[in-house]
Amino acid sequence: MMVSRTSILRGTSDIAAAAVLLLGISVLIGWMLDVEPLKRVMPGYVTMNPLTSVCFIASGVALWLTDGSPMQRRAALIIAVLLLIVSAWQLVADLASAAFQPDEILFATAINQSVPMSRMAPSTAAGFVLAAASFMFIHSEIGTTRSAGQYFALALGCIALFSTVAYTYGAGTHAALRPFNLMALHTSWGLFVLAIGLLFKDTRTGLISLIMSQGLAGQLLRLMIPAVIIVPTILGWLTIRAQEQGFFGSSLAVTMLATFSIILLFILTVATARMIQEADAERQRRMKVVRASEERLAGILAIAADAIISADADQKITLFNGWAESLFGYSRAEVLGQPLDILLPERFRKHHAAYVQEFGEGDVKARPMGEAGQIFARRKDGSTFPAEASISKLAIDDQLIYTVVMRDMTEKRRADMALIKAKNDAEAAMRSQSEFLANMSHEIRTPLNSIAGFTQLLLTNDALQGQLRAQVAKIKNSAAALTTVVNDILDYSKLEEGMLTLSMAPLSPKELVYNCVSIVSPAANARDIEIDVELSPNLDERRYLGDANRMQQVLLNLLSNAVKFTERGRVTVKAREEDSDDGCALIRFEVIDTGIGIKPENMGRLFRRFSQVDSSASRHYGGTGLGLAICKRIITLMGGQIGAESEPGKGSTFWFHLPMERMASTADDGAEHRGSDDAGNVQRSILLVEDIDLNREIAVAMLERAGHAVDVACDGAQAVSKVTDRHYDLILMDIQMPTMDGITATRLIRSLDSENCAVPIIAMTANVLPDEVDRFHEAGMNGHIRKPVELDDLIAQVNRWTSETRAAV
Ligand code: ADP
Repeated sequence: MMVSRTSILRGTSDIAAAAVLLLGISVLIGWMLDVEPLKRVMPGYVTMNPLTSVCFIASGVALWLTDGSPMQRRAALIIAVLLLIVSAWQLVADLASAAFQPDEILFATAINQSVPMSRMAPSTAAGFVLAAASFMFIHSEIGTTRSAGQYFALALGCIALFSTVAYTYGAGTHAALRPFNLMALHTSWGLFVLAIGLLFKDTRTGLISLIMSQGLAGQLLRLMIPAVIIVPTILGWLTIRAQEQGFFGSSLAVTMLATFSIILLFILTVATARMIQEADAERQRRMKVVRASEERLAGILAIAADAIISADADQKITLFNGWAESLFGYSRAEVLGQPLDILLPERFRKHHAAYVQEFGEGDVKARPMGEAGQIFARRKDGSTFPAEASISKLAIDDQLIYTVVMRDMTEKRRADMALIKAKNDAEAAMRSQSEFLANMSHEIRTPLNSIAGFTQLLLTNDALQGQLRAQVAKIKNSAAALTTVVNDILDYSKLEEGMLTLSMAPLSPKELVYNCVSIVSPAANARDIEIDVELSPNLDERRYLGDANRMQQVLLNLLSNAVKFTERGRVTVKAREEDSDDGCALIRFEVIDTGIGIKPENMGRLFRRFSQVDSSASRHYGGTGLGLAICKRIITLMGGQIGAESEPGKGSTFWFHLPMERMASTADDGAEHRGSDDAGNVQRSILLVEDIDLNREIAVAMLERAGHAVDVACDGAQAVSKVTDRHYDLILMDIQMPTMDGITATRLIRSLDSENCAVPIIAMTANVLPDEVDRFHEAGMNGHIRKPVELDDLIAQVNRWTSETRAAV
């Protein structure tokens, strides 16, 4: 908006320059070609002297060049100096009635013949002196000097106005003016336009900037100036005309002029007063708004729970709120006008001043401080504290104001540290808890292993008969029950800690079901309970993405319960694929028994930890009441659901379903390919790696009883060296051992540069939590046998893996 206004003003000045130039040229042509209207406008009027027309040409060019390049401006200045010399000389010579005057130089003959006079009027010469003076000042860089240039232009305008009005009123040729040589009509026009051109050259200072200003002064001037110039001129003209017509005498005419002037001035004064009044009311209203906003700001500053500090461009403090006072210990009076960096520790001051400077010069209006690191502030007593701060800037009248909002972070940092410590402590506690769990698992199972192992060996001895045999069988059952209890407690602790993670791989639900059935079959057979398997055809050979170990854990738990709580009849395991869309399926498993069932009032307590729904039954059947709670947690973790229906005396149905991703291939990807359990009584060479004497003794006895040749190693290192030297059909590897553990030993055996590296390795360990089993597989082990070792299980595994070796050979 301002730019376009400035260009309009510049344009006015350029038009004035062109008009003046054109006037000078046309009058000069008039003299050359003797064209009367060009020389004098009207017959009988005074002609424009040729020197005057040359002065107009010079003024036009100078006006044009005034705001050009430095060179052009210099040229304009030279022209102005020449103009001053010529016009001043003419003025002095004329007033002194000198014998020679510059206006005689051009067209001397024509001038002398011209009637009326053709000399340059003293008022014209004075006008050009003023114009030349105006030129010299108007393009100065100093505002007051430029203003002086404007005053010269205004004086020039007054001379031109007087002459123009005189012509308008018919006084242009008045005899009273004659001694001064009359100014030509178009000279008065030309000087008027030149005055306007000069005035409009400078829009930054003086009268024009005032006229163009936005405020009240500008409005008033824009209203008054045209009125003040035009109205008296018209009134005067009307009065003269009326007088000429003989309407009234001169005293009445002057009376009329005075009266109209009074009325006009009165109207203008009232209009001015009204404008001032309105402007005043507006100013008052704005002041009120400003005061209200100042009060609001003061209120905010007073109650803000942050230190708010402002500083000027020199980083001197200009505002310090109440919170800042209490935070830093300085009173407002103490810090106002002080450098901002008194609030910083010494070591940060230099950097801080540069930071604020750089922020002041950048484009960003606000930003948090301390991006490069923690910031600290300094109290009056010299102590420092960690702080969080942000800085913003505001430019008011080209003056930057910085505002910093700062917060003491001491408490927050203390709380953060406490939180981090608490977290570290909790993690350490969790680590030691899980270490404790792993150790306890090992420590309990190792003696359990020998109890179970030796009782099994005893039971294979035919010499043991009668009551003695029955007692040993009870020891065996008790050991088995104790094993389940230990397993449940350990599993549940892991689930409680949220340490259970799923390890997904392609699995076959069919294999899963048959594995579980084969595990519980001995117990079911012993009680004459049949186990049926019903798989839907759509499930038969399919593979899905899932965690086989944990699914087996759940299904096994349901199957063991079904067998445990069924006196006679049968247990049925069903699996089918339910709703399925592209790629994803819902697999449902059911375990149905014809056992004792559960009373309706007890159904709600199933799946809760340590809840055995019928205490008398539980005394009879044993258990911890944790199995179903573990199942529920695992199934929930997998995104599935688990539930039960039951009728007392008739039986129960336990079910779970899981969303599972269907795998494209039906090949045996990822599935353990197992050999036949039935390898006959072929003698195998087996390396048993076990550090505990008792465990070694049991396993050796079990294996030798089955007719195998057993070599022993007491730790992983011994095992590696033995495998380097000779071939074994199978290695049974303990995990936790001194010197070298089973996992490291397996890795080393697998990396051996000999055929022996391919020997099947079976983990034989008390560490049986599912994620540990995954680790065994990762190390290169083929399977695992859970301690306490079951004789049948051990022999079956040996046969399975050695027959596979045979098949591979
Ligand atoms: P537990 O180790 O005691 O078997 P579970 O959590 O596996 O713990 O089972 C909790 C209780 O639910 C059992 O004690 C039993 O009372 C009841 N229960 C579980 N399965 C069956 C079933 N198939 N038939 C009857 N009752 C069952």
